[in-house]
Amino acid sequence: MNVIFLGPPGAGKGTQAKILEETYGMVQLSTGDMLRAEVAAGSDLGKEAKAVMESGGLVSDELVIGIISSRIDQDDCKGGFMLDGFPRTVPQAEALDVMLKDKGFNLDHVLELQVDDEPLIGRITGRFTCGDCGEGYHDMFKKPAKEGVCDKCGSSNMKRRADDNEETVRARLQAYHDQTAPIVGHYGKQGLVRPVDGNTAIDEVTNQLKTILG
Ligand code: AMP
Repeated sequence: MNVIFLGPPGAGKGTQAKILEETYGMVQLSTGDMLRAEVAAGSDLGKEAKAVMESGGLVSDELVIGIISSRIDQDDCKGGFMLDGFPRTVPQAEALDVMLKDKGFNLDHVLELQVDDEPLIGRITGRFTCGDCGEGYHDMFKKPAKEGVCDKCGSSNMKRRADDNEETVRARLQAYHDQTAPIVGHYGKQGLVRPVDGNTAIDEVTNQLKTILG
C-alpha cells in the first residue's frame, strides 16, 4: 500500500507515519528529513535549501522531485511507502503522478489530516526530539520523565528544529494554505482523499487512520 500524508505543519504527519510504519510495514519518506540531512551534511543541495527552509518557504519543485524519485527506487519502498511532506505543490503532485506511473506504483490513499491553525503554533513551537534515537517530545504534551533525558535511549542530546519558531511557523502555515492545500482538489478528482480529524489525541488519530487503511 502506498499513501500520501497531507496536512499543515504540526498536523501529526510524521508522528502518525512513524506509528503506522511498524503496523503496516510501509516506509516513511519525509522530504523535510531528507533535506535536513543534506543541510547537516553541508552538501550542495543542502546549501541550496538551507536559507529557504529557515525562512519557512518551499524549496524548488525540481529539487524535491529529484530527491523523491531516487529515494522511491530503493528496495525498501517495494513493500509500500508513506509520503510525508511531499507533494507540497500542484506541480509536485503532477510530477508524482507521472513518476509513480513510470515506476509501476499505485497510490491507494491521500490521508488529509485536518487541524485548525492556532493549535498548530503551540504544537510546533513546543516540540523537540532526541538527536540520537529520534524519539519526539513536547514541552506541554509529552515531557520526558527526567528533564532533558530521553526516556527511550537515555541520551541528553535533545534537539529543536531551527524552523520551529513562531515567526517561521506562521510563514510555513501560509505556504501550506497558498501552495499545498490546492493539492486536495488535485487528488479529490482522482477519488483518493480521505479526510481525518487531526484535532484529537494521537491514538484517536491513529484509530481513524487504521479504519481507513484496514
Ligand atoms: P517538514 O519537515 O515537512 O516540515 O519540511 C521542512 C521544510 O523543508 C519546509 O518548510 C520546506 O522549506 C522544506 N520542504 C520539505 N518538503 C518540501 C517539499 N515537498 N517541497 C518544498 N519544500 C519542502
